[in-house]
Amino acid sequence: MADQYDYDLFTIGAGSGGVRASRVAAAHGARVAVAEEYRVGGTCVIRGCVPKKMLVYGAHFAEDLEDAKAFGWTIEGKSFDWAALRDAVQNDVTRLEGLYGETLSNHDVTVLNEHARITGDHQITLASGKIVTARYILIATGARPFIPDFRGNEHVITSNEAFHLDAIPRRILIAGGGYIANEFAGIFNEFGSKVTLANRSDTILRGYDESVRDRLLQISLTKGIEYCFMAEFEYVEKQDDGSLRVKLTGQDERIFDVVMVATGRVPNIEGLGLETIGVECGKRGEIVVDTFSRTNVDYVYALGDVTDRVQLTPVAIREGQAFADSVFGEVEPYAVDHSCVPSAVFSHPPIAAVGMTEGEARNTLGSVKVYQADFRPMKNVVAGRNERSLYKMIVDAATDRIVGIHMIGPEAPEIMQAAAVAVKAGLTKADFDATVAIHPTMAEELVLFK
Ligand code: NDP
Repeated sequence: MADQYDYDLFTIGAGSGGVRASRVAAAHGARVAVAEEYRVGGTCVIRGCVPKKMLVYGAHFAEDLEDAKAFGWTIEGKSFDWAALRDAVQNDVTRLEGLYGETLSNHDVTVLNEHARITGDHQITLASGKIVTARYILIATGARPFIPDFRGNEHVITSNEAFHLDAIPRRILIAGGGYIANEFAGIFNEFGSKVTLANRSDTILRGYDESVRDRLLQISLTKGIEYCFMAEFEYVEKQDDGSLRVKLTGQDERIFDVVMVATGRVPNIEGLGLETIGVECGKRGEIVVDTFSRTNVDYVYALGDVTDRVQLTPVAIREGQAFADSVFGEVEPYAVDHSCVPSAVFSHPPIAAVGMTEGEARNTLGSVKVYQADFRPMKNVVAGRNERSLYKMIVDAATDRIVGIHMIGPEAPEIMQAAAVAVKAGLTKADFDATVAIHPTMAEELVLFK
């Protein structure tokens, strides 16, 4: 029966979710092909989480080298070479791309480096004109930066291009107040750019706990990042010297060297031929799926950012694993639990969170206890760096169960990964209290809340 089709599974998109799904399906014995029109690895590996984190490391040396003086170090003639960092990052991205490709070929997954389009029932046509058939089709094409519509928007860059700049801009405007805007604001600021962050609303990082957001704002202002709120683009004009004249609502015209837009991401559904077989999409262009990542067409599945559920790599990977195990493994079909997903913003300093914010908990649970540690990390004290960390624990007063933890401070994402296990497991404040602190650490604050 299986031989009726060329493949058991045809995956479109070799990003985090598509690669995991294809590899695991193949390990379960399926004959798998994956089409990727750009580079194997997808957004996370090629132009997202991975190169971004490397830039975050590179950028943070600006503070570390400064702080080193207070610890007795003399560093003469320090300088920063953007091209050296940029190229080192890109070399590692290429290495990782190779590893992803190897993983697929080691599992006998056929990789087709070309565009694929659904052209009929169970049928895919490749850019080369070749037609193949598959019992199941998986769409894992991810998302791309959304660029608002305004005059001159062809002059802006997105995070895709930020990794390849010829030089660090002297003046950069970053539009948006979310993950990407705040992460790149921190990166460019550490590299010495004059950074202005402009958002359409009066907030940054909507969805994160208010106190933690406020702390980032306060620290970023101290570091010299400028914020404009309720500011949308009216126009961007390119000047003769290459700089950009920008008009934002409520602001005077300003000149920047680079304007970067980080205003959300939209699902990649164009050119896939979804309409040919009637795959349903939602208002934001996302492919509509059930908890098993199944679309309204019984042999078509979709996962990761193209479904716009939780736009995070580890979630897409889980969805890929669950899909492959459920469809090709010998297990009962299972769905990914999208609740209590921890997350982080790699700003300077970083933010990490799991579970409900204080506001959400008060609205949902009624009676809530909030514990807070507002402290200056030991390293900052010696360095004379007036930057305080904030940890918050939100507890359901009726059950003592921890429903949320929110942190801003050095290494917050590293600490949060372990704390998130406890929150996911439903542990109580008393469980944390019963755990002895590791002293001296920042993380010990989590078991010392009073
Ligand atoms: P976010 O959703 O985080 O933020 C979007 C920002 O753009 C918000 O400030 C929003 O304003 C604003 N915005 C939204 N629509 C418009 C519009 N039409 N015009 C002007 N402004 C608009 O998106 P990002 O682009 O920063 O990141 C995309 C996704 O990638 C994230 O949601 C996240 O899931 C993922 N990501 C995760 C990272 C991590 O885990 N560390 C890092 C980078 C990305 P408002 O204030 O009104 O909401």
